[in-house]
Amino acid sequence: MNAVEITRVPMDRTIARAPFEPNMRVAHINDYLICFYDGRDIADYPAWLQSNIDMQLGVCCYVLHRGDTAIIFDTMLYKEHILWIDRYIRDMGIRHVSVINSHWDCDHIAGNFLYKNRDIISTTKTRLKIETNAELFRSGEIWAMAGDPHYPGIDELILPNRTFDGKMVLHLGDIEIHLIETFIHQLGHLVAYLPRDSILLVADACEDTVPFNTLAMTSDMTVQLQAYRELQAIPAKQLYPCHGRFEVIANGGYGPDFIAAMIDYNTALLERSSDPQFLTEPLERFIDKWIARGTLAMHEPYRSLHANNVNQICRTRR
Ligand SMILES: [Zn+2]
Repeated sequence: MNAVEITRVPMDRTIARAPFEPNMRVAHINDYLICFYDGRDIADYPAWLQSNIDMQLGVCCYVLHRGDTAIIFDTMLYKEHILWIDRYIRDMGIRHVSVINSHWDCDHIAGNFLYKNRDIISTTKTRLKIETNAELFRSGEIWAMAGDPHYPGIDELILPNRTFDGKMVLHLGDIEIHLIETFIHQLGHLVAYLPRDSILLVADACEDTVPFNTLAMTSDMTVQLQAYRELQAIPAKQLYPCHGRFEVIANGGYGPDFIAAMIDYNTALLERSSDPQFLTEPLERFIDKWIARGTLAMHEPYRSLHANNVNQICRTRR
């Protein structure tokens, strides 16, 4: 598996993409929450797909369900993913599906097309970002900007049709879902808190090994750090990311120290940015305490994200 550099590459328009069947891992977290996970272990997949950073990092989404009704929290990266998940939940007897998009990145919205006549919920900013970048999504160029020359693009790009700013509360039977806009990772990003069981779906606000800091968030890092502190004030006991270790997700999830680890890492980025070794120091040196505690685990492709993060810091310091 070749390391992906998070930078713009030319699209390869000549590629013939061999079909693939997702090797999806499924975890029933409790009687109403399921995780669908792909990636990390991708050596058997066609080569065109192995150049995608999210497939290397591991990518997942969550389905909340009660009776014959479900809410899908993010619709994954390739159409094959959502078709697989949809088959799975239909087999469970689910007939009514709504969607939440945690933010506008491709690995969270590509499957929206399957639910185009249903409620698709996001923040106002997320809808706006998808709309303004629509051509990049359709062509696949959006991924070429993050190092993947082979992304097929989204044939049918479907925008969220119910939007909000700040906070929104949904109900799925007896389950309350608090959607909270949070200034982390991407403009308009939201997390979902389920007070019933103190569960927080953090989407890309927390990642294991490290978060992905976009330029907008890096240039306002102090605001992002404040947003992390606000997340810490939510009394969540179990946290579930969209990019993390499947074995942790399938065994009770991450603890509240997951957020502390993100704060600590981002603070280290700021504090060490003047060190002569800042750009070359290995990722482990920024998170050794959290690796020792088992909160985070080193996953090699995250070196590319760390390289992005330190470079963004340098760009904002110029
Ligand atoms: Zn993501």
